[in-house]
Amino acid sequence: MTGRQGEDSQCPVCGGDLTPGVATVPFIFPETFVVVKDVPAEVCNSCHETYMAGKTVDQLTRVLNQLRSLRTEVSLISYPDIINMSPAVGA
Ligand SMILES: [Zn+2]
Repeated sequence: MTGRQGEDSQCPVCGGDLTPGVATVPFIFPETFVVVKDVPAEVCNSCHETYMAGKTVDQLTRVLNQLRSLRTEVSLISYPDIINMSPAVGA
């Protein structure tokens, strides 16, 4: 059995060590450009690839869809603000 996933802090790309930290993630759409700061992520020490948890990606996707509907050309937001913008989630 080799079903162990998501527990080890090792980079799937290069096998380097992953360190918990924050990332700045740009999202580019045809009609808008969104930059999200302070996203919790694991960062590879070797190749600097960033990995976000599935829950984090879900949260980002939800808010990105809202931002796209606003038709703002460029948005710069921080992840903690996203959490505050989504009162329907969690509680
Ligand atoms: Zn790596």
